Amino acid sequence: MSTTRHNWTKEEILDIYNKPLMDLLYDAATIHRQQHDPNVVQVSTLLSIKTGGCSEDCGYCPQAARYHTNIEGNDLMSVQQVKAQALRAKEGGSSRVCMGAAWRNVKDGEEFDQVLEMVRTINKLDMEVCCTLGMLTENQAQRLAEAGLYAYNHNLDSSEEYYKEVISTRGYQDRLDTIDNVRKTNVTVCSGGIIGMGERLEDRAGMLVALSTLNPQPESTPINALVAVEGTPLEDQKPVSIWDMIRMVATTRIVLPETQVRLSAGRTQMSREGQAMCFFAGANSIFAGDKLLTTPNPDVNEDMKMFKLLGLNPQKPFTKKVQPQTVEAVASEFEALGEKPKWTRPEHTIERNEAAKQKAKAVK
Ligand code: SF4
Repeated sequence: MSTTRHNWTKEEILDIYNKPLMDLLYDAATIHRQQHDPNVVQVSTLLSIKTGGCSEDCGYCPQAARYHTNIEGNDLMSVQQVKAQALRAKEGGSSRVCMGAAWRNVKDGEEFDQVLEMVRTINKLDMEVCCTLGMLTENQAQRLAEAGLYAYNHNLDSSEEYYKEVISTRGYQDRLDTIDNVRKTNVTVCSGGIIGMGERLEDRAGMLVALSTLNPQPESTPINALVAVEGTPLEDQKPVSIWDMIRMVATTRIVLPETQVRLSAGRTQMSREGQAMCFFAGANSIFAGDKLLTTPNPDVNEDMKMFKLLGLNPQKPFTKKVQPQTVEAVASEFEALGEKPKWTRPEHTIERNEAAKQKAKAVK
């Protein structure tokens, strides 16, 4: 019988999060074993196909053009470059490639056509393809689906209330609308968030309410620990404690029982023992490769040594859902509509974002 519920309240989720740790771990591990093979963990590779120069003001992100960080920007990669990286990832044991572009939203045109070709190319390598390209319309989601996209990532980041303290250039409803557009296709949804941005426990629970009340729930949920990057508004945030990470993973597992829970950013700060507890608590995916978009990540060989030590096996591609068919561009039934959707731009003032922007102006 499915244990999935879509009516979790913040109070219920907080009660779970604050349980004695041994009870929380036992409950999460029990649900994990009912729904998933506890010795199988998916290895995904995150590839930044277009880096930096983003118009948004996400307080955690070194790719926002308005802050002064040390990242190197890059224009959109070529299809051949992406194919070479995907093949390397496959050899390293990855079953999924997630391509990220630092865009506010997808725009119809040559660059999007190039991304569609990347999707076709990777799907033909028999790997799961995921994209994270910002907000997108239903037509754009359909075109990605037709190219063979397996998953679309669009994080809620935090609770609706705390989102306003981190980002002022778009609204929470825009995120939900994009997820809804993806849901109108056969592409699976990947959506999660970040802890350690200064949010309260209520905000962590609030984010899990938002994710768990989606029906269907996301097939994949990344849980990131903030990597505080110099120059961003959140540069002074303290690292997330491993106990918070374990509690967040376990609580996510309980309220999203069927979802693939991903240990994402912040793994370099975690010991093997800490990661092992996260796997026990229900995490069943990691990102491999020495970089996560722009922040450091453990070396893939180190991860494989950890897998051996813990007796974990990498998940095979298309274990959870069959491989989508790729339709070639010439046979496409969807054409670019050249839409100009009105995504929200609330532009309220977030003082620490403003301060980081002024500091960057002074440096430049
Ligand atoms: S998180 Fe994405 S949308 Fe926000 S600034 Fe970074 S690249 Fe842009």
